[in-house]
Amino acid sequence: MNRCRPNISLDPILWLPMSFIERSRCLRWRQGWLPNNYSAHCLFHPLCTLTKAHAIKCLQMHNRLQLPTTVVDPIAHLLNQLPTRPIKQHVNAPVNWSISWPIVQMLLLEIDYLQHEKIPPTPSETLGQPLLDWLYASTTIIT
Ligand SMILES: [Zn+2]
Repeated sequence: MNRCRPNISLDPILWLPMSFIERSRCLRWRQGWLPNNYSAHCLFHPLCTLTKAHAIKCLQMHNRLQLPTTVVDPIAHLLNQLPTRPIKQHVNAPVNWSISWPIVQMLLLEIDYLQHEKIPPTPSETLGQPLLDWLYASTTIIT
């Protein structure tokens, strides 16, 4: 799969509204630093190195993001489709961000903890809220 974006433009991960840690996790996933593929073992499968491929399977990413298994890297697949401008969400839009984005952020949080060989906590706040607020505000202006 081609991991590059089709157009040359400023990567939306760099400027879309996200918390510092959310942005950091997105960038680290894309760069292949999260997981880093060598230094951690999976807490759930102690014999397995925590690789990207293992994390995708172990955390059931395809299932949780409702993507077919033909998508090799579900998170990169979604990051590549992030909006590059405020968009109105259509009923048949390719990605329903209000559902997918909090799951992407939850998965990245879980991997970040596993990378540090810690059990992921249940976050108290909704993950990914800054982006959802931005999309929601944009939608309100357009309609
Ligand atoms: Zn595992």
